[in-house]
Order: sequence, then structure tokens, then C-alpha cells
Amino acid sequence: MTTFAEIQNSLYQKLNIHSPGERRKLLIDEMEGLTNKKIHCFNCSGTCCTFSANSMQITPIEAFEILISLEVTEHNLSDLKAALQKNIQDYRLDHEIFLGKKINSILRKTYTCPFFVAGSKGCTIKKDLKPYGCLGFNPRIENDNGSQCLSNTELLETRENVEIKNEDNANDFLKQELQLEWVKLEIPKAVLALLEKIF
Ligand code: SF4
Ligand code: SF4
Repeated sequence: MTTFAEIQNSLYQKLNIHSPGERRKLLIDEMEGLTNKKIHCFNCSGTCCTFSANSMQITPIEAFEILISLEVTEHNLSDLKAALQKNIQDYRLDHEIFLGKKINSILRKTYTCPFFVAGSKGCTIKKDLKPYGCLGFNPRIENDNGSQCLSNTELLETRENVEIKNEDNANDFLKQELQLEWVKLEIPKAVLALLEKIF
């Protein structure tokens, strides 16, 4: 079985994809610019990370980078797997609801992210390693606390256009190496899928 370190080496050394921080720089710069204008999430209960609004889906490379942030070891592995399995069951993410032949898609469910901790901590994933969509979703006015927060779709698209080749290569490599049959999944399902293949 290929180890986590071998996969990491293949992605960032052999395939030479840009580092997580470099690929997210545009989004992080925007977030920091907003914070300097006192537009931030510090006083919010975390609406966009909980079942009231979160339906985030991520790619294999985003899930892999969450694993880097989690610093998985033999000591935290089983707790982590159990927490992800519980989260998937709590929000019934293991039951797909097909919306019919006409639109040919699956219902996108909301769930509380397993990496969200209520209170001052909030998201526990390191900034450079968070899903792109999470970084691109921000408040637009001071003390908004979730009512008018928006995705900066233009910036997300600009970032994607710059990195698409890099990230397509990374996702193709992970799909082939780990025999993954999905393009995007909800955060707990994507992270658990990689954990089960690698550890
Ligand atoms: S990864 Fe972080 S920011 Fe994204 S949904 Fe989870 S807790 Fe929220
Ligand atoms: S982006 Fe908006 S909803 Fe999400 S934590 Fe920040 S203020 Fe709250």
C-alpha cells in the first residue's frame, strides 16, 4: 500500500503541483483584506459551517490537504474515523436521494462540518489547507454574523483558472492511485474515503 508520505511526495515533488498555500493565496489575501476592514467571522456562530447552511463538497486533493492539516497518527486515527462515520450517519449523508431523470442529479444535503467547533475556535482546519469554497465564502459588511455572507465566485473562478491543470493532475493521480470513483463529495465522506484507502 502507498503511504501518506509517498503520496505527498508524488503530488508536490514529482507532479510538482503548487503548494496548498500558493494555490489558495488569492482567497486568503481577500479574507485578510476584509479582516483589516473589520469584516470578519470572529463574532459569528459559524452559520456557514453548520447544517443550517453548509452543503460543501470537495475534490480528492482538497480532502488530501485536510488530512495534512489533521496530522493523522496511529493515536488519533480511530477517533477520527469514528467521528467522521458518526457525522455521516447523523446527517444521513450515506443515503443519496435521486432527484429524478429530468434533472439527473442527487439532492445536495446540508450538514454540520465535522471540523467545526462551536464557540471561539470555529474551523479547526489550518487556513492554507481549507477547502477553496470555505475560503471564498465571507461576510461583506461589518458585524454581519451570517446574514449576507456570499461566495466570491469571480475570485474562486480566477483561482481555479490559474490552478486547473495542476489540480486536475492531482485529482487524476489520487483517483488512480487510491481507486476513487468520485469527483466531489461532502467533506466527511471525502476525508473518510481517503483515510480508509491510505491508513
Ligand atoms: S472546513 Fe472549516 S470552514 Fe469549511 S465547512 Fe468545515 S469547519 Fe467550516
Ligand atoms: S462566512 Fe458568514 S456565516 Fe460563515 S462564519 Fe463567517 S460570518 Fe459566519
